[in-house]
Amino acid sequence: MTPTMIRLESVSKRFGAVRAVEAASVEIGKGEFVALLGPSGCGKTTLLRLVAGFEAPEEGVVRIGERVVAGGAWVPPERRHVGMVFQDYALFPHLTVAGNAGYGLGRRRREARVREALDLVGLSAHGDRYPHELSGGQQQRVALARALAPEPSVVLLDEPWSNIDPLLRASMRDELAAILRATGVTVLLVTHEQEEAFSLADRVALMREGAIVQTGTPEEIYYRPANRWAAEFVGAANVLPGRLAGGLVETLVGRFPAPNGDPPGDVDVLVRPELLELAVDPAGDGEVVLREFRGHDVFYRVRLADGTTVCSQRPSNEWIPLGARVAVRPHAGRVALFH
Ligand code: ATP
Repeated sequence: MTPTMIRLESVSKRFGAVRAVEAASVEIGKGEFVALLGPSGCGKTTLLRLVAGFEAPEEGVVRIGERVVAGGAWVPPERRHVGMVFQDYALFPHLTVAGNAGYGLGRRRREARVREALDLVGLSAHGDRYPHELSGGQQQRVALARALAPEPSVVLLDEPWSNIDPLLRASMRDELAAILRATGVTVLLVTHEQEEAFSLADRVALMREGAIVQTGTPEEIYYRPANRWAAEFVGAANVLPGRLAGGLVETLVGRFPAPNGDPPGDVDVLVRPELLELAVDPAGDGEVVLREFRGHDVFYRVRLADGTTVCSQRPSNEWIPLGARVAVRPHAGRVALFH
C-alpha cells in the first residue's frame, strides 16, 4: 500500500465567528495528485494554508510524512518540505528566472538545484531573463521551478490557472500537471472547477462549508456522489423518484440497473443527463422545452406528461428541434440511489 504523505485528522480553523474549516479529515498518499474541489468560500485555501503552516488549527492534527506538523507539535512552514505555487505566482520582479528559482536555497546547493529545476520546467535557456520578459505560462513555470528546487515532499497549488485566458488554460494545466507527475511529488491542488479537478487528479476531495463531504476518484464522485449536493455540484443531475426491486430501479423514464447491495424500496435516483436518450416520436410523452447547442454535445430540457422536467445530453449529430415531441429512454449506464 502507498504510504500516506499528508494526513489531516478532524482539523478545524475559525476566523472569529467564521468556521472556515470544520472537522476536516483527509488522507493523501505519497505521489498522489489530489484536487480539493468546492465552491467559493468553502475553506479550500484555508485548508491548504493549514498544510503549508501559514495557519495553525484550533483542533485536530496535521501530519506530513511521519511527522506531526500541527496539533500537539508545531513545525514552521520553512521546515515542512512543502512547495507552494500561488495564484499570482508571486515572482520577484527584480530577480532573474534563475534568481527566482533559487530563492531561499542555501548557496552550496543552489546552482545545481536551479539548473535541475529549470530543466524540469523547460526554461534552462531563460535563466537570465526577468519575469516581465516572459509569457504568463513561462512565469508560472518559474513559480513551479521555485517550488520544486528545494526538492519538497509536497507541492500545494492554489487555483493556479484562474487568471489565465480560457484558451490557454487547458494547455498550461496539462503542461504543469505533466511536470508534476514526472517528479513523483505529492500534489494538492485547490480549485473550484469540476472539470479541472476531474481531468487532472487521481482523487478529488469535495469540500463544502468547511467540511470534506466526500473523497474518491473522479468517477466515484460523479457516479456515486455522497449526497444530492455533491451530485449537483459536479455536474447536471436528474434526481427522480424510483422503486428498487430485483437489482433494477424503476423510474418514470424507464428502468436502470441498480448498484449492488442497495436494499429494495422507494429511493431517489440520480440519473446523469447522458443516460437519457431522446427519440423524436409524435406519440412520445415528452416535449423539448430547452435546447442548448454546446458544440460536442447538445443539452436538452424535456417536460414530461406529468409536468416533471428532465435534462438530457446527446451527441450534437443527433438533431432534435426545440418543441419536438420525444420519447425518453434509459441509456445503459450507472445510476446512484439516495435512500
Ligand atoms: P475561494 O475559492 O473564493 O478562494 P476558499 O474556498 O478558498 O474560497 P477560504 O479562502 O479558505 O475559502 O475562506 C473560507 C472562509 O473563511 C470564508 O468565509 C472567508 O471569508 C474566511 N476567511 C478566510 N481567511 C480569513 C481571514 N484571514 N480572516 C477572516 N476570515 C477569513
